[in-house]
Amino acid sequence: MPGLDEKLHDIHEEVLRRNPGETEFHQAVHEVLDSLGPVVAKHPQYADAAVIRRLCEPERQIIFRVPWIDDAGQVQINRGFRVEFNSALGPYKGGLRFHPTVYLGIVKFLGFEQIFKNALTGLPIGGGKGGSDFDPKGRSDGEVMRFCQAFMTELYRHIGEYTDVPAGDTGVGGREIGYLFGQYKRITNRYESGVLTGKGLGWGGSQVRTEATGYGTVFFTDEILKSRGESFDGRRVVVSGSGNVAVYAIEKVHELGGTVVACSDSTGYVVDDKGVDLELLKDVKLNRRARIAEYAERRGAHYVEDGSVWDVPCDIALPCATQNELNGRDAAVLIRSGCAVVAEGANMPCTPEAVRLFAEAGVVFAPGKAANAGGVATSALEMQQNASRDSWSFEHTEQRLADIMHGIHDRCLETADEYGVPGNYAVGANIAGFTQVADAMLALGVI
Ligand code: GLU
Repeated sequence: MPGLDEKLHDIHEEVLRRNPGETEFHQAVHEVLDSLGPVVAKHPQYADAAVIRRLCEPERQIIFRVPWIDDAGQVQINRGFRVEFNSALGPYKGGLRFHPTVYLGIVKFLGFEQIFKNALTGLPIGGGKGGSDFDPKGRSDGEVMRFCQAFMTELYRHIGEYTDVPAGDTGVGGREIGYLFGQYKRITNRYESGVLTGKGLGWGGSQVRTEATGYGTVFFTDEILKSRGESFDGRRVVVSGSGNVAVYAIEKVHELGGTVVACSDSTGYVVDDKGVDLELLKDVKLNRRARIAEYAERRGAHYVEDGSVWDVPCDIALPCATQNELNGRDAAVLIRSGCAVVAEGANMPCTPEAVRLFAEAGVVFAPGKAANAGGVATSALEMQQNASRDSWSFEHTEQRLADIMHGIHDRCLETADEYGVPGNYAVGANIAGFTQVADAMLALGVI
């Protein structure tokens, strides 16, 4: 791979050879290694203890069969995953994704990202990720419940509040966490609240957890704007996606005075120059799990089937849908339309080519492992509340989230300065996350 120094190049080659076909994982590893040249030059102790090579190899990878019975009485078989990537800083922590595209390479890319993201929060959480190729689309509530129960029937033996703490991701929200927690409680006969996060407010959940990833992404973007003497006021914003992250990003942009003029789902996008009607969007996408075309119809907004939401001109772009959704062509269009800031609400939504084009054009780019860390940070706050059998107010929890995002922002910038790449949030995030984990790994010995 071009750009990597010799030692890092060899490590990357080893990752490719040992993990064939896992393209998203290769991409995530390359993106981090690409930032680490100056770090290994300055700190040879990391190479001596093979810290980077150990970081690229998950501590444990679990793959299991998930058999369940659908509404027609047919046996269905899915594949379940949990990759326990790194526990130097705390119990493995990261979400579960239920989506037909899930395979080991996706889970490993997400788990790898999670290590550095979780380190950046400054909270005591290691990195992990899991999920299944189960497709919740079109499944009844009963089917989703039986699937979650079957999934947990295997997963329960691997997790625990001090071991591994899953949460939601794409396809896993409050409903699924409820069924998963119920089955865990039933099998173990323990009301172990801290084993899962993203729980409902009435049974151990935290205020602001639902909103946290979207809110956090907007807080981070606001920090970027403030550092340049600017604000959201009067800005045109495009948000891709219309799931949990996108919806609460839109909510916070509107609160801060910006206008979200477009959002999307996997079938198309809507353009709504007056600003997206959030209550309607929540009803269509979160409550009814319907297509965004229904929003456009009820709102009388412009709907474009397929196509790219990045064709809509904006000042600020917040990709909140999924990995590699914003490619080089989209980046070129955004740059031409005058977009000045891109912050990733999803994990790795911008392709390497898009990131390169943004850098060349002077567009500020905030990587997901920094910008979307508010979700997992608030999960760690949920764990704190569970451990102390307490629950905090919305205001207090939101303030904690805002402070954490502020801290991550400043740490990225300071680290970028220290390594001679001022304003480069991607390099700052990779180096700051890496050194925190690497120092803990050195202290804990070769394990
Ligand atoms: N899935 C979310 C993420 O990508 C949150 C994980 C969590 O709360 O543990 O960070």
